[in-house]
Order: sequence, then C-alpha cells, then structure tokens
Amino acid sequence: MPKINLKRVLLTSLIGYSSLLVLFWVPFNYTTDELKDYHDNYMTIINGNCKSSQYINPWQFYMSFKDLSSEGLAGATHYSDRYVSRRLIWIDSSEWKIYNEDEKISLVFHELTHAYFNYPDLSGYNNRAHFMYEGMNDLNNKFSTYQQLNELTKDLCKSQ
Ligand SMILES: [Zn+2]
Repeated sequence: MPKINLKRVLLTSLIGYSSLLVLFWVPFNYTTDELKDYHDNYMTIINGNCKSSQYINPWQFYMSFKDLSSEGLAGATHYSDRYVSRRLIWIDSSEWKIYNEDEKISLVFHELTHAYFNYPDLSGYNNRAHFMYEGMNDLNNKFSTYQQLNELTKDLCKSQ
C-alpha cells in the first residue's frame, strides 16, 4: 500500500487550487531551493537601485516549478492585488532542463520583474534583445540581463 504523505497532499492541493488561496490571508514567502540563488541575485540588483518601498512586497509570494507545456510557456507570473498582494511564479520544469545558464537567468529575472514591478512584456523589433521581451530574447547572456535589469530599475526608482 502506498504511503500517503499527508503534508505533501495538503501542500499540493493548496498550490494546485491557487484560487483557494484567496481564503488564506496568511503571509508566505516561498522560493524553491533551485531558484533561491537567482532570486537572491535579483534582489541584490534591485536593492542597489530601489528602496523597498519602491517595489511590490507581496503579502504572499511563491516561486517554483510546474508543467506549463499545455500553455506553451516557459514561465508564468500570476499577480493579484485585489485582496492581498499575491505573486505566484511558475517556471516550466522541462524548459528549465534544456535552458543554459544565461537563459535561466533571463527567464527568472523576467518573471520577477513582472512580480515586483508589475512591469509588462515588451514587444517590437527594437526590444527583442531585452530580457522583458515577450518571447525568447536574442541577446541572451547574463551580463546583458544584469545590465538591463540594473538600467531598468535605476530608471523605475530614480524619480520617487
Ligand atoms: Zn512576460
């Protein structure tokens, strides 16, 4: 008989039925282990340019892997500010496995910029080398991603 891990079942249902999270006003801040370093590096860059009051500090934050193949996405950010500020980020597990390090940084930073700044996807020919480009960007190396995030957040936070 398979052993049922109740904690895991509960956690899975909680995450699976994310709409139910509306019922839970408890704050949480969870990033899965494999994404922690990317998240930390991102925070270091934005905290160099912004005060913590200049970006969103979600009441509920969650970032982990999920199968997004049916949606054809490499990453997705769900954001809501209706009841409590909530940011749920999913990275497609199979895309992640085939991405190189530069692409991983670009993908995670892209989703985090949606989450922390409500910053939209960029479209158009001129933006196709930008990490906020709506599709996979052309100029995908970590130095350009760091530099672009640095410039973007300097710009977003300078006027306040
Ligand atoms: Zn996007």
